[in-house]
Amino acid sequence: MAAKKPFLNFLKNLDTAAEILQLSEAEKEALATPEAIHETEIEFSRDSGETETVTAYRVQHNSARGPYKGGIRYHHEADLEEVKALASLMSFKCSVVNIPMGGGKGGIKINPKPLSETELESLSRVYFRWGTENGIFGVNKDVPAPDVYTTPQIMSWMLDEHEKILGHKSPGVITGKPLELGGSLGRNYSTAMGGFYVLQKHLAKLGKKPVDTTIAVQGFGNAGSYFAEIAHEAGYKIVAVSDSKGGICCDSDGYFEVKSLKEWKKQAGSFRGNFCEGDTCDIEKMKKSQVKVISNEELLKLDVDVLVLAALDGVVHDENADEISAKLILELANGPVTPEADEILEKKGIEVLPDILANAGGVTVSYFEWVQNRSGDVWEEDYVNAKLKKIMENAYSDLEKAREKFAFQPGSRQAGISWRQAAFIVAIDRIIAAMKLRGTLK
Ligand code: NAD
Repeated sequence: MAAKKPFLNFLKNLDTAAEILQLSEAEKEALATPEAIHETEIEFSRDSGETETVTAYRVQHNSARGPYKGGIRYHHEADLEEVKALASLMSFKCSVVNIPMGGGKGGIKINPKPLSETELESLSRVYFRWGTENGIFGVNKDVPAPDVYTTPQIMSWMLDEHEKILGHKSPGVITGKPLELGGSLGRNYSTAMGGFYVLQKHLAKLGKKPVDTTIAVQGFGNAGSYFAEIAHEAGYKIVAVSDSKGGICCDSDGYFEVKSLKEWKKQAGSFRGNFCEGDTCDIEKMKKSQVKVISNEELLKLDVDVLVLAALDGVVHDENADEISAKLILELANGPVTPEADEILEKKGIEVLPDILANAGGVTVSYFEWVQNRSGDVWEEDYVNAKLKKIMENAYSDLEKAREKFAFQPGSRQAGISWRQAAFIVAIDRIIAAMKLRGTLK
């Protein structure tokens, strides 16, 4: 598998959409260039009394449509290339679902797993102090949220640090907070719910009923496990799941009860671990549960109706795309299908509902949280979900219209466009329009 190159992947997708839209060089350049890149070394306290220095980033891609919005990730592989890509995709994602926010992303290059609670708190406060004192974060400027290995507790410390410096309350400066500090109902499962609304609309259009639809889910964390639960309750058949240790699939024509999946995962910490120890698997137990243990790579190749990617970026790439047998891919993770794989899948007739549509439910409910915090209101869960459904379905329809519009362009080299290209086109159109209205782009 080739090395990951997330920002280059973004530029590649941007180039394709720019060609279809016949963007000028200035327009393309404006979308390819983040408005601000902040990089620093921050020092936090270890329990030993020593201090440790780590590299921290905040990239602000585009604010023509509203304040920057995007998560903060703690990861030992976080780097500028990745943060730039994710910030750019956030501008596009907010634009696809037509919420008035721009795109940003933050990261700290650290493995947070060995840190104690007090060390995590010190790191989080120092990072947000840097962002507040340097005018990077603000309720009307840049509104972060959780991402990989950052939690509602971390958001709480960051909010507290920000408000201490300001000397007044400003709960809307950060989203993904616990309910007690102004978090929104429905935020914890919003990414999965948003993806589910999109999938449901797509399958209904194809006349495919839940009971006739088999689904494999890669990744069983926040996005994947809530998705499996929601889809199962709606009558879809979850026939395979995986986590970082490997996967399991149904050894029959049946499907999994999501309750059992959760129990297996809880009991052994992983799906595989529930049936195997090292290389030795308990055949009787597998038979009784009608389970077959499979590798992560095997799960990707299963002949299912829908493959839901809810784990990592770059998992479907030029070397394995040809072996994908699913009829449809739903990208709940960010960037799980590379541009090279997109081309291969397109030739095979496999449609991909792209990340900037499919996982935009998370940022949409984050936006709801920001609106509630600024107005002092608290919305009921049903109200949140009804609003989310409408936004996701409208976004899907907007992409459908773009696909129709660009299906048969006279003189165009394109013979129809993918869902990803449609998403980029819709997003670009709105961002460029906002920049032109502001006069920042002529
Ligand atoms: P998470 O950490 O809760 O879950 C990730 C899951 O992936 C875990 O179950 C882990 O075991 C599994 N995993 C790791 N490596 C794997 C592998 N090789 N094969 C199969 N499974 C593997 O993370 P999450 O919040 O669910 O996020 C998952 C993806 O969705 C990320 O790309 C994230 O950026 C994206 N996303 C999440 C949200 C959100 O609100 N949580 C919003 C938008 C996008």
